[in-house]
Amino acid sequence: MRTLENYVCGAWKRGEGTLRKLHNPTTGEQCAETGTGGVDMKAVMDHARHVGGPALREMTFSARAALLMNASKAIHAHREALIDLAVENGGNTRKDAKFDLDGATGTLAAYARFGETIGDTRVQFDGGGVQLGRTSRFWGEHVFVPREGVAVHINAFNFPAWGLAEKAAVAWLAGVPVVTKPATATATVAEAMVRILIDDGVVPEGALQLLSGSAGDLLDHMESQDILAFTGSAATGFMLRSHENLLRKSVRVNIEADSLNSAVLGPDVQPGSETWNLFLRDVVTEMTQKAGQKCTAVRRIFVPEAIADTVQEELCARLSDMAVGNPALREVRVSPLASAAQRDDVRAGVERLAAEADIVFGSTDTPEVVDADATAGYFVGPVLLRARDAASCSAVHEHEVFGPVATIVPVAGDAASAAAEVRKGDGSLVASVYSDDREFIGAMILGIGAWHGRLYLGSARVADQTLGSGAVLPASVHGGPGRAGGGEELGFERGMRLYQQRVALQGDRGILQRLFK
Ligand code: NAP
Repeated sequence: MRTLENYVCGAWKRGEGTLRKLHNPTTGEQCAETGTGGVDMKAVMDHARHVGGPALREMTFSARAALLMNASKAIHAHREALIDLAVENGGNTRKDAKFDLDGATGTLAAYARFGETIGDTRVQFDGGGVQLGRTSRFWGEHVFVPREGVAVHINAFNFPAWGLAEKAAVAWLAGVPVVTKPATATATVAEAMVRILIDDGVVPEGALQLLSGSAGDLLDHMESQDILAFTGSAATGFMLRSHENLLRKSVRVNIEADSLNSAVLGPDVQPGSETWNLFLRDVVTEMTQKAGQKCTAVRRIFVPEAIADTVQEELCARLSDMAVGNPALREVRVSPLASAAQRDDVRAGVERLAAEADIVFGSTDTPEVVDADATAGYFVGPVLLRARDAASCSAVHEHEVFGPVATIVPVAGDAASAAAEVRKGDGSLVASVYSDDREFIGAMILGIGAWHGRLYLGSARVADQTLGSGAVLPASVHGGPGRAGGGEELGFERGMRLYQQRVALQGDRGILQRLFK
């Protein structure tokens, strides 16, 4: 059994006192232990602030881009070993583990390539300049400089690799050191990744520290230049957002939280068409990948009433092909959930949905599984529900069941009716709209755009190119308003703004326009 360590103040440190047990979700057996007892959180913040920060700020964007590419390659070189850890501690199928790991290395590489385009400078200009005085001699510009603080990254259990990398890539490129804290339950993959990066000397000392367990009193030591980027449940997000020290110091906080993402089938889509098949493929993937433990997973499926029976039949047929069981086996498509608590939450969540929707596929009973003990592991099979009356259901719009669970909600076929239903989710990370009708798509963008961070528009012409609505791409922003936390990550330079200070410069145009060029 492994004992995870923390990487703090330039050394690996084992937690003191009682350690938390980590389990193998397939067997329920303990596979590791970890803790942060005895870690001096103030010293961690000081180390990042005084050692890592200056080292990163000394580097140009090109140099930081090279760092990111080296980090991507170093992690990729250990892909197989990391997949094995994700199967053991995350309960991921090998395919799901690759999705997490390749997402991590892919995002680092994409940000590296983007960083190269900024070039050998340490300052970014924000748009063009403007005349401020009587003549153009008195001139205004805006620039972005790195904040002189620490990026504290607190991640959710479902994407230990991607969560670490997607946040670190953006902070490092912006020139800010990182203290990363994976969710304790699945921390082994993140710990192994940090070991790789430290052993390979990829990042300057102080630019990356790791807490493999509880954050302790870390937030009490945050200062006004620091940044907190959190991914997890709305309840924890609310607690962190209202932390007294963070409020007092005006610490920037970015929250990525729950989301009741939608898939909307346009009335123009005919059964058997390419767009129809894309819709079915995406919905089944979103329900079953990572056993539905994805913030971007589809929870609500809005379909025109006239075609709801056909959609239900097709989805049930496809779900019946998804074997649940030992995630190490290639034929298994649905893994166990990450923890016993997660399994119990999902079962309770389905019961809540079932008060207003019929279960049309699966159940909350222990499922039949391949090559595993169904009662020892944390298994729940896919569950598809169908709302009895769209007008009166509420739980489907309010309660995120973080597992392989989604609900069909039949609606009138027009865009206005569909948009009104989607908006009941009170802000989501992503909605996918499947249609080849430009007018319907345009009406949906206007009808639901303000309630989402991302709209995925699935149509026949892009069907062979998309990775599905659940894939978070580094070039597009990730985050959403309202329930989804109100945060924004990635989207190349857009995500960097969290870690930068925008400064207005007012002075001699001749000087300003030659600065940093
Ligand atoms: P969680 O229970 O809120 O935990 C998230 C993180 O917060 C963990 O690292 C946890 O650490 C930490 N944490 C908890 N209490 C804390 C405190 N008082 N101070 C500092 N850190 C604290 O969420 P989860 O169960 O891991 O993740 C599932 C949820 O995350 C779902 O609701 C899902 O929708 C959401 N999610 C959102 C996104 C997104 O991008 N929007 C992505 C993935 C997941 P410990 O593990 O040590 O308790």
